[in-house]
Amino acid sequence: MQAPSVGGVMLPRGNGETVRLSRGASLTDFAEKINANPASLVAVMMNLGEMVTATQSVSDETLQLLADEMNYTVQIVSPEEEDRELLESFDIEFGEDEGDEEDLMVRPPVVTVMGHVDHGKTRLLDAIRKTNVIAGEAGGITQHIGAYQVATEVNDEERKITFIDTPGHEAFTAMRARGARSTDIAILVVAANDGVMPQTVEALNHAKAADVPIVVAVNKIDVEGADPTKVRGQLTEYGLVAEEYGGDTMFVDISAKQGLHIDSLLEAVVLTADASLDLRANPNQDAQGIAIESRLDRGRGAVSTVLVQRGTLRVGDTMVVGDAYGRVRAMHDDNGNSVAEAGPSTPVQVLGLTNVPGAGDNFLVVDEDRTARQIAEKRAARERNAAFAKRTRRVSLEDLDKVLKAGEVQQLNLIIKGDASGSVEALESSLLQLDVGEEVDIRVLHRGVGAVTESDIDLAMGSDAIVIGFNVRAAGRAQQMAEREGVDVRYYSVIYQAIEEIEAALKGMLKPEFEEVELGTAEIREVFKSSKLGNIAGVLIRSGEVRRNTKARLLRDGKVVAENLNIEGLRRFKDDVTEIREGFEGGINLGNFNDIKVDDVIATYEMREKPRV
Ligand code: GDP
Repeated sequence: MQAPSVGGVMLPRGNGETVRLSRGASLTDFAEKINANPASLVAVMMNLGEMVTATQSVSDETLQLLADEMNYTVQIVSPEEEDRELLESFDIEFGEDEGDEEDLMVRPPVVTVMGHVDHGKTRLLDAIRKTNVIAGEAGGITQHIGAYQVATEVNDEERKITFIDTPGHEAFTAMRARGARSTDIAILVVAANDGVMPQTVEALNHAKAADVPIVVAVNKIDVEGADPTKVRGQLTEYGLVAEEYGGDTMFVDISAKQGLHIDSLLEAVVLTADASLDLRANPNQDAQGIAIESRLDRGRGAVSTVLVQRGTLRVGDTMVVGDAYGRVRAMHDDNGNSVAEAGPSTPVQVLGLTNVPGAGDNFLVVDEDRTARQIAEKRAARERNAAFAKRTRRVSLEDLDKVLKAGEVQQLNLIIKGDASGSVEALESSLLQLDVGEEVDIRVLHRGVGAVTESDIDLAMGSDAIVIGFNVRAAGRAQQMAEREGVDVRYYSVIYQAIEEIEAALKGMLKPEFEEVELGTAEIREVFKSSKLGNIAGVLIRSGEVRRNTKARLLRDGKVVAENLNIEGLRRFKDDVTEIREGFEGGINLGNFNDIKVDDVIATYEMREKPRV
């Protein structure tokens, strides 16, 4: 078959073969797969009305379009799939326990506390922690590492429970969005004096979507007006029916403040786990799990809390966490005690990683440092490509036309840096939820843990982005660079403040709306004819003031007879003036407009920008 050509360049042509490409691939990657010259693919794209360079990452749609045109079938590989394949290439399987049934041992449930703001999530996490320090481990300094473990007696047996102690469903959802399953059971906190609120429902829906069983903690029963029965009734509507009403959800009435019935709540968690989940893991294999929270510590470097999901993590192990890797130098538990090993469902803080992983990144232990480095580097490269692909917005000629015509969508580009991956992700997801209408859009180009660096400023310059530093500052020469290049860097330590300001900035990007504001009215008492200027109105200012060079309309018997006039001349006695106030007389010249009569009213106004609410 004769290959078609465009401008003399031979176009590659397939027979419908499938080409696998990772998200964010470039035309060069594509060309390599089909043994073609990258330049010919550039030519095809040009023919399709799109200018793309050979090495630039392109969107899924562009790859699809290109494949259709050349008669290939493209299969875009998702990051998760790709990661699985990457690990497989090293003979590693992630997410499955090794061995048989008899290798599996019971592990503690991992719990996230969710619910409406102010219903007592934080207070509850504190209360649980205080009343249940694991025996023998007391004496350490309680530390916030992102998760902790407590023990409780159920049927004369000591049972452990692990709590993720960032309350709220934001972190939960952010992790889930990355395919990480962190939570076995959700405690839904509902204040008995307030009842079911919007975020209660949101949290409940998130838990259901993730197929996570719910235990309801009806909190604040010490408060006057508390009505735990009402809460049970309300939640029935959402499919959570209390056991005492024949359902299968456990409700426990508590007071986080007074420490009331915390033990019963813990028991309910254990019983729910036993009834509806089979929580077992193989402790005798290389450890795997997920990163919960990480930050950069000045003295100690990257500090990351990981939750072991299977296997046992030991000091000295070589691990990969997202695109970070390293040999575990030390581990600490949530009491600040140093520990040598951590089994399934145990959260530990790990030192020794090269950089800071993200919340929800998976971790695994590998045999060799080299393997760890290779996996981490491949992941980092993939992240870069994917971020770049997101950044290059595909505008075809057709789109471009539309974009130009409409004056169209404006986009606020952001780069978010923060002190911990949890806070960065929480900030990002809150910002992405901002909605000020269809005209403007937020795009997060890059996020990360650590100071604002010169490379952040570089990226901001290249894409007109605003840099947000959450509990971090600019490092080295980044600040000077930002000032020199006019990059807007904003620092915050309170999430809500950041959200408010960005929302205001977004509103500022909306096209201004104007409204008419009346300035004054003038009644025509006399009409003077001037050979040079035409008709001059002798007026008495009835209200407000009349200013030169403002807009006016003419009213006769209360009806508008002329619009869009201009106060071109304004005089008092023989002097030109800029304004005449209420109660004074003067002369008005409306330029070319001469059709004025005694008793007409000249009303003046101006257009003012309306503040957005
Ligand atoms: P969160 O937003 O869900 O984390 O709520 P907090 O834990 O910050 O609690 C909100 C407010 O309710 C705080 O002032 C708590 O002291 C108070 N609070 C929490 N639990 C109880 C309770 O059981 N009884 C009473 N009276 N107040 C509580």
